Amino acid sequence: MASENTRVAIIGAGVSGLAVSHHLNNEDTVLFDSADHYAGHCHSELVDGFTWDDGPHISFSVNNYVQDFLVDQVKGEYESVETVSSNYYKGHWIGHPSQVNLYQVPEPLRTQCLESFLATRDDQRAPKNYQDWLDVAFGPVFASTFPAAYTRKYWTVEPSQLSTEWVGNRVMKPSTEQVVAGATGNIGLATSHYVADKNTRYPSNGGFMGYMHRMAEAANVQLNTTVNSINFGNRELVLGDGTTVNYEHLVSTMALKKLILASVDAPDSVREAAKLLTCTNFLRVDVAVNHPAIRPETWVYVYDEDKYSVRISVTEKFGPNNAPKDCTGIQVEVYGSEYRACPTDFEAVKTGVVNELIEMCMIESRDNLRYVHCKFVPQGNPIFDHNRAPAMKEISTFLDKHGVQLVGRYGEHKYLMTDACIISARRVAARIGGGDGAQHDVSEVSLSAAG
Ligand SMILES: Cc1cc2nc3c(=O)[nH]c(=O)nc-3n(C[C@H](O)[C@H](O)[C@H](O)COP(=O)(O)OP(=O)(O)OC[C@H]3O[C@@H](n4cnc5c(N)ncnc54)[C@H](O)[C@@H]3O)c2cc1C
Repeated sequence: MASENTRVAIIGAGVSGLAVSHHLNNEDTVLFDSADHYAGHCHSELVDGFTWDDGPHISFSVNNYVQDFLVDQVKGEYESVETVSSNYYKGHWIGHPSQVNLYQVPEPLRTQCLESFLATRDDQRAPKNYQDWLDVAFGPVFASTFPAAYTRKYWTVEPSQLSTEWVGNRVMKPSTEQVVAGATGNIGLATSHYVADKNTRYPSNGGFMGYMHRMAEAANVQLNTTVNSINFGNRELVLGDGTTVNYEHLVSTMALKKLILASVDAPDSVREAAKLLTCTNFLRVDVAVNHPAIRPETWVYVYDEDKYSVRISVTEKFGPNNAPKDCTGIQVEVYGSEYRACPTDFEAVKTGVVNELIEMCMIESRDNLRYVHCKFVPQGNPIFDHNRAPAMKEISTFLDKHGVQLVGRYGEHKYLMTDACIISARRVAARIGGGDGAQHDVSEVSLSAAG
């Protein structure tokens, strides 16, 4: 069988792998990706005039380095997007974040939420899990009606099954004054867990993937090339066609669990730890509609547990070229995981999702559908359950010994956005270059560095 040598072997040509190679000036680096395209989760597809990202993507980075980096990748051709998000609950539209827009919550629930919030303001306990965090932040009635329901839909687990490491400033913790005022009227606070200001950006052309082309064109990417097994001790990979690749440095952006399970020399304790890591997956339902968007939202969170839809996004509100003129592209995410499987009957999901969009007045009628596609996406978000932290410790100790560099949302098994992936890639490139990379810590990406 053939064998190759490279100084830096990178598993995965998503944003993380591409950004590592870029920050090494693409010198003596090779990226292996099992897919037939680069960009990983930042991939976009053009279908019948509609551009679909792999789940809704927008850059809300507040980090100057990342902002400049991305501007450069699209040669300055990007849109500044003013996003609007809302919540849907049993026929009611509630401004985001709903905890400071209680005035749109129907009675008697509104009063119950407010009273439960006020009655628990002395609750100063240190939260042991996300359920505690919610109860302390919002009071039990709001917590159980809204975020707990959303947690079951999005994270596929009960809030008590999650730690609080990932929360950061993703979930807005309101002051008493904000909640009280928001129960009587609009206080004009339209922040979201990601969007700190209005400075969100999106490539002008080609979907979110527009950010990836320059990096990929300059890199040495081998597509349709799966890394089948890894011998960390020998610094050797085996590819799908049996080729062995010897490396000096290994960077992995593939799912951490799969990396460990593909290794020939990880001890049993590390393999057992890896088996405990879990991720959500999701169905991406792309609904192409032949009339313009009816509602103003860029995306919507759906709280109703009897609905498939978890998050709904409107593609041409990310980038105006994402849908043909006078049409709207609506993408709906339906989540699953090892804890609770995604629905497998795609036809039922498509029918159900369209019915929900009609009920929510986001589509006029079935007659307006151009097409509805449903696709299973095997990786969504790493789940911060209570197994994660001890498992990560066991795995990191082993990989550190072999100098393996982990980058990205799935490589690091953290809830990283693309900006944090880019910073993390820059840090790893600095380490490979001989430094410690400490100056490029992902904590500098203030909004998206959880975990
Ligand atoms: C629904 C959703 C919405 C999101 N929204 C946003 C957003 O609005 N803004 C934002 O900044 N971020 C967003 N993100 C996060 C963003 O997508 C990720 O942070 C980023 O894409 C992770 O990139 P990555 O390169 O680390 O991983 P990936 O993109 O998954 O790339 C890893 C690559 O490794 C390859 N691979 C895996 N196994 C192997 C193997 N054995 N051999 C060879 N190749 C392999 C895969 O094919 C893949 O191309 C979102 C994520 C999701 C899921």
